Amino acid sequence: MTKVVDHINNAQGDSIFSIEILPPMKGHGIQKLFTQIEPLMEFQPKFIDVTYHREEYMYKKREHGLLEKISIRKRPGTVGICAALMNRFHIDTIPHIICGGFTKEETENALIDLQFLGIDNVLALRGDAIKTESQFSPTEGGHNYASDLIEQVRAMNSGQYLNSEVENAFSTDFCIGVAGYPEKHFEAPNFHTDLKYLKQKVDLGAEYIVTQMFFDNKKYFHFVDECRSAGINIPIIAGIKPLASKNQLTVLPSIFHIDLPDDLVNAVEKCQDNAAVKQVGIEWATAQSKELLEHKIPGLHFYSMGKSDNIVKIASEIF
Ligand code: FAD
Repeated sequence: MTKVVDHINNAQGDSIFSIEILPPMKGHGIQKLFTQIEPLMEFQPKFIDVTYHREEYMYKKREHGLLEKISIRKRPGTVGICAALMNRFHIDTIPHIICGGFTKEETENALIDLQFLGIDNVLALRGDAIKTESQFSPTEGGHNYASDLIEQVRAMNSGQYLNSEVENAFSTDFCIGVAGYPEKHFEAPNFHTDLKYLKQKVDLGAEYIVTQMFFDNKKYFHFVDECRSAGINIPIIAGIKPLASKNQLTVLPSIFHIDLPDDLVNAVEKCQDNAAVKQVGIEWATAQSKELLEHKIPGLHFYSMGKSDNIVKIASEIF
């Protein structure tokens, strides 16, 4: 497998193209995902990220009105999907690994599985709070922050395993990516504090950053400038999400804590139906991508969220 940083270096100043996909909902097969990804292969994405979804809790009513708390994972299978996509498309896949829901031991086992599968890239994240909790709380025996996860991966990269006295232990060789927020992570007290912790992730061993989605390129350029001033000098891949439905005008800001520019909001509000919104979304993301490509940024990373036809249209305009 090729590491993300090597893909970027091999591109010799051109921007690389990559996508992020979500595992299918529990109980659904993988065929739909294959069909979704297939048309994108023409544009030679360098890698596919596969998100990780932690458990959620629901309450089921039992006899006598008692409620039973049940833990369910709605989108399981991240590691298996990575292996299946590698097998099917001969492409590098990047599993997201998260703190929430994992003990350090479970993380170590997952990393061992990845290493055996020949997967040498991971995107290290904290993860969000469980939907029924108001704020993120670490799993007992797990990590608090993405930076702690990076330290664990880096330790394995130097042959150090948990509670282990194995001599001459095998060193893994993971390339570690992390998340960055051009509009600040929503919990951070301010932009510069967030940047301070991003720098900490880089100092601990992160080799590239993927940004949260943004719809105004000025936010990305400002973020990159601020990162460079803070001494963060690793590649910053831009996360692009083509808007696809009218309700995303409120859903995306509330989930991802991002702003949508006036011009985009006005254009979407004028649309009669979601087919028209999709077209607006394609045109907006195409214009965004063209400008970013002119600036020779390291990479464009498209959030597919279960749809690829719009990304196919954008890719055919820009690559
Ligand atoms: P961290 O870097 O740990 O930061 C979290 C917050 O804590 C920030 O406010 C930061 O400023 C602060 N902070 C960091 N370190 C410290 C410290 N040492 N002391 C005090 N404060 C600190 N979520 C999923 O569940 N699954 C996914 O697959 C997934 N994929 C994603 C992919 C991308 C590209 C992005 C941008 C996000 C993704 N997320 C995913 C969402 C992500 O998990 C959330 O945004 C989460 O709230 C923060 O994750 P992080 O890795 O940025 O956290």
